[in-house]
Amino acid sequence: MKWWLRSCVVLLCVCAGFARAAIELAATDAEHPVHRELTFLRDDSATLGLGQVLALPRAHWQQNDADVFSRGYNGAAWWLRFDVRVAPGYPEAPLLEVAYPVLDEVEVWLLADGRQQAHFRMGDKLPFASRSIAHRYFLAPLQMQPGQDYTVLLRVRTSSSVQVPVKLWQKGAYIAHDQMRLVSQGIYFGAMLAMVLYNFFVFLLIRERNYAYYVLYVLSMLFFLASLNGLAFQFLWPEATDWNDQAIIVTLSGTVLFGVLFTSRFLQAPRHLPRVMPAMRALMAASVLIMVLAFFLSYALLIRLAIVVAAGACAAGLVVGVLRWRQGDVSARYYAIAWSAMLMGGIILALNKFQVLPQNLVTENATQLGSILEVLLLSFALAERINQEKRLRFEAQQEALQSERRARLAQAEVLDTQRRANEELEQHVQARTRELEIANLCLAELSATDQLTGLRNRRFLDDLLREEFVRCYRYRHSIAVLLLDIDHFKHFNDSHGHLVGDDCLRYVARTLKTSVRSEVDRVARFGGEEFCVVLPETDAEGARVVAERIRTDIEAMVFLVEGRAVPVSVSVGVAALVPVNAGGYDALLAATDRALYAAKAAGRNRVVVASEGEAVAGQ
Ligand code: GH3
Ligand code: MG
Ligand code: MG
Repeated sequence: MKWWLRSCVVLLCVCAGFARAAIELAATDAEHPVHRELTFLRDDSATLGLGQVLALPRAHWQQNDADVFSRGYNGAAWWLRFDVRVAPGYPEAPLLEVAYPVLDEVEVWLLADGRQQAHFRMGDKLPFASRSIAHRYFLAPLQMQPGQDYTVLLRVRTSSSVQVPVKLWQKGAYIAHDQMRLVSQGIYFGAMLAMVLYNFFVFLLIRERNYAYYVLYVLSMLFFLASLNGLAFQFLWPEATDWNDQAIIVTLSGTVLFGVLFTSRFLQAPRHLPRVMPAMRALMAASVLIMVLAFFLSYALLIRLAIVVAAGACAAGLVVGVLRWRQGDVSARYYAIAWSAMLMGGIILALNKFQVLPQNLVTENATQLGSILEVLLLSFALAERINQEKRLRFEAQQEALQSERRARLAQAEVLDTQRRANEELEQHVQARTRELEIANLCLAELSATDQLTGLRNRRFLDDLLREEFVRCYRYRHSIAVLLLDIDHFKHFNDSHGHLVGDDCLRYVARTLKTSVRSEVDRVARFGGEEFCVVLPETDAEGARVVAERIRTDIEAMVFLVEGRAVPVSVSVGVAALVPVNAGGYDALLAATDRALYAAKAAGRNRVVVASEGEAVAGQ
């Protein structure tokens, strides 16, 4: 045929709206997506049988104009049809693949010349074991003679989204391609399970509830995705055809529930964003409600609700993450980025389900890609948060330690100050005590001293005499006392004045001190112009010698009044005894006094010694 002729035929056929070109599977055609070649028919009552459908005129069939036949959620039965022929040399029977594993009912007929060649019944409302090829997707091997024209009819009915991605594969190519898909799924689920296990162990170790929410969240998501791509039905519950639908709703709602729980706790939303909490709680309540209703209401209704709630949760998560990020929470940054990745995946999947986006490798796996990114980032964010809390705790501990150290230092300082104050006080007290002692000594000195002459006074003399008397009594030694009286001193005062009299007294005292050389002999002013000398260990004769020396010394001294020497003399009474009792010193004094009188009476300026008998008599 000439090229223009062929073009005209094709154009005519297209305009006529029927007689679609049959698919010609060349020997080199490894895979052949069937979309533009498809015509379809909607059977709302879902009652038509194969014969009825085949009997319908061609005009009832519509042309599919999308890459994937996709009709959203509805209860209708959809009939799809295309013509196919395999070229000679095509290896084995081509595989017809419908790569959407959640379709409820999938029936495939292979017809040649209006006669049924093969019939396959599949769909996830049948136990997995009933499939002729045990695969998560629906596969039908189409046995065809090369060069022969065949018609393939598909009937699809499902409560899920109606998507029928049809492809014809060479068996070998399919196995190779499927290996790649399985390995990538294996990597995905393996990686996610490792994350689940790892974070579960972290939870067991540190008992942080966030980790539990996180693990449950990732686990729910894994089950959801495994349900969606048919792996769960194939490997986990191949008999549970009802649960297969419910599982999608339950796991999707579980993902939302634990995702929101995790979000609100991880980002501390109740404390920092109390106003978003009603929305979060509403999302959680809706998820729980949908989970429960999954066992009672239709899948078609609930899956739509669940997707709306999930979209809401994604949006809420993003909003909360961004708000907390703006409030300055560092881990919220990772969270927001993680959530965005997941959100993108979720949005792409949702748009795909509602037919806004076409079904292809990216849209089908968007959730997987988004989720793996999210899960990794969230795990990092969790660790970051724990780290942050650890850091805060550490800082608080350091702070506490430091304040304790400061308190201890302050206490030590107080103690030191106290100790120093005590020491100072002690020193002060000691100084004061010393001063007082000195003052006391001075006072004692003063109280024992005669002001005018500087000699000991009468009080001191009494004490001294008492002590010496007792001592001499104990050792049976003699003790002597001298009593001196200045002669005619009244007259002296009268002649020269009282002040000169005082000078004379001082002068006599000085002479007395020099005359009494012995360290033990003590001189005191007895009163007025009378002096007393106590001579321990001295008998009457010794005392007389001392008295005589004193008298002569005084007589010899030159006392000048207005340049003229004025004679001064003293009369001395002497008495000595060996005490026979401890308290007899009064008698000794009295005897001395009497001797003094005797000296005065005898003419003054002389020494009179009381006889021993007289001295002892008074005792
Ligand atoms: P006699 O030889 O008999 O002792 O004669 P007298 O004048 O010393 O007699 P008397 O002992 O009675 O007099 C003591 C006088 O000594 C009286 C008093 O004026 C004088 N006198 C006593 N104490 C002091 C004193 O502290 N200073 C002065 N200047 N005179 C004194
Ligand atoms: Mg006198
Ligand atoms: Mg006198």
